[in-house]
Amino acid sequence: MQNTTKAATGMTGVDATGVVIVGAGPTGLTLACALARQGVEVRIIERAEEFHTGSRGKTLNLRSLEILADLGLGERLAAAGRTHLPFRKYFAGEFVNETEPFAGARPTATVPYEASLWLPQTRVERLLREQLAEYGVKVELATELVDFRQDAGGVEVHLADGGRIAAEYLVACDGGRSTVRKLLGIPFVGDGDPEPMMVCGDVEVEGLEPDAWHQWFGPQGAFMLCPLPGTRRWQLQASVETDAEGRAVAPSLESFQRLAALHTGREDLELTNATWLSTWRVNVRMAERYREGRVFLAGDCAHVHPTAGGLGMNTGIQDAWNLAWKLGYVVRGLAAPALLDTYQEERLPIAAWTLDVSSAGMAAVVAGVGTPGVGVEAGRVGDTTGLSLGYRWSRLAGGGVATVATDVADGPDSARVVTGGADGLLLAGDRAPDSPCPGSEDGPARLFEHFAGDHFTLLGFGPGARTSLAALPAYVRPVPLDDPDGAIRAAYGITGDALVLIRPDNHIALIAPADGRADVLAYLGAL
Ligand SMILES: Cc1cc2nc3c(=O)[nH]c(=O)nc-3n(C[C@H](O)[C@H](O)[C@H](O)COP(=O)(O)OP(=O)(O)OC[C@H]3O[C@@H](n4cnc5c(N)ncnc54)[C@H](O)[C@@H]3O)c2cc1C
Repeated sequence: MQNTTKAATGMTGVDATGVVIVGAGPTGLTLACALARQGVEVRIIERAEEFHTGSRGKTLNLRSLEILADLGLGERLAAAGRTHLPFRKYFAGEFVNETEPFAGARPTATVPYEASLWLPQTRVERLLREQLAEYGVKVELATELVDFRQDAGGVEVHLADGGRIAAEYLVACDGGRSTVRKLLGIPFVGDGDPEPMMVCGDVEVEGLEPDAWHQWFGPQGAFMLCPLPGTRRWQLQASVETDAEGRAVAPSLESFQRLAALHTGREDLELTNATWLSTWRVNVRMAERYREGRVFLAGDCAHVHPTAGGLGMNTGIQDAWNLAWKLGYVVRGLAAPALLDTYQEERLPIAAWTLDVSSAGMAAVVAGVGTPGVGVEAGRVGDTTGLSLGYRWSRLAGGGVATVATDVADGPDSARVVTGGADGLLLAGDRAPDSPCPGSEDGPARLFEHFAGDHFTLLGFGPGARTSLAALPAYVRPVPLDDPDGAIRAAYGITGDALVLIRPDNHIALIAPADGRADVLAYLGAL
């Protein structure tokens, strides 16, 4: 999209933009890319003077991979990361077993990725920044929000250096300690433990093959070293070292070296060049609401939870994906501001679910620390692929039911926990499945190629749907499907001719009869 949407805020005397994003972590960067792709004028400000180098998140789940591929990052991510990293488990220093959570998994007709991708969050962020730069947007470093005000016409951000930014909307992606959330007085409800539970850091390691995530469990706690693809570095996570009085020892290279000897029983492991040292405390909290007027919360700013299941960065990316098209459509004048209420309606229940599964997962890992052969995968107690998460309860879920064979690539747990529907049903609100589409008239080999972008897609199954695909609004892409072998019908549970409207974030908006053009237009009109 070429045209740039200028802000029309009520604030005067300051530079104006469409959306200002506070925080350039994975959430803010995903949102910035998705807005910039729509032609929305966006500024993304970051308090840090330099980009963060600590690895933190290290896996992208299947749903995040689909989202980032839609944004054009698929090939670069695949080149940078790796899949199928084995978990090598030791107990009291002795090797016990090796497992790989996605062993044997293959891409399927409806799910193009078979396994999570391993790569450090810092690398994901760099790729997102590069993508953003292609839209002409740069992260503004050393630019800290210290205050803001809003009125019916817009938002004005106050910067630490005295500068001001006026915008139509502000999105807080400023992490768990969010200044914006605190300024709004939005309660961050839940529990936290002031004592550190884990130390983490990035180190180099001599004496260990980077071919697995090494996990030493035992009566004294846990010590783990995970190789970070594309680097010489490893992420270390370990139970906190305590001194003679039982007090937590602050993380340092020396402490990491002592922990390595204690848990592995090996003197030949040499840790060097620690570039990130951190402690991690249990915090299970979520914001009571995600919106206050023209200000939205996303990512860790809206929810923090245990690392079990690797859902933090992924949930932030998926928040941003849900919000981006809605914000873009409102700023571009394609939808009424009421659409923005559906962001909290759809994403807040997902956060509640995420807090539950990651807490249960962390409890399972902690309980397993004293059991030989237990490793981090004990923390995968729900669908950590993100594929089954949908929005059936949302007001954006139009009527209609299709029956499908459930087909989720991830074997261990593909229950539709959040969508909560019966297996075998594809409903409005669910993630729209991929499928090879040899019968489509205009080229792409897979449905996801049709979906990629910020438009709605109207799938028209069979000749009976042809007339319904004519003269649609410019932001709806019609896709006539002959589907000679029935593969797409099978993926969508469609038996005859029908229409399926797909949202820009690739969730099903509406399933309608083939002659249901009026239903589709009514749905779009209601936006
Ligand atoms: C050891 C560890 C392992 C993890 N493993 C995983 C994993 O495997 N998978 C996974 O999905 N997640 C994982 N996570 C969680 C993941 O790192 C976080 O969930 C993720 O960073 C959240 O992204 P975010 O963009 O919402 O917030 P952040 O990454 O915290 O970014 C917020 C940004 O806002 C900036 N900022 C703050 N205040 C201001 C201000 N006032 N003005 C301007 N800028 C501001 C900050 O400097 C920061 O850059 C892990 C975390 C840790 C610590």
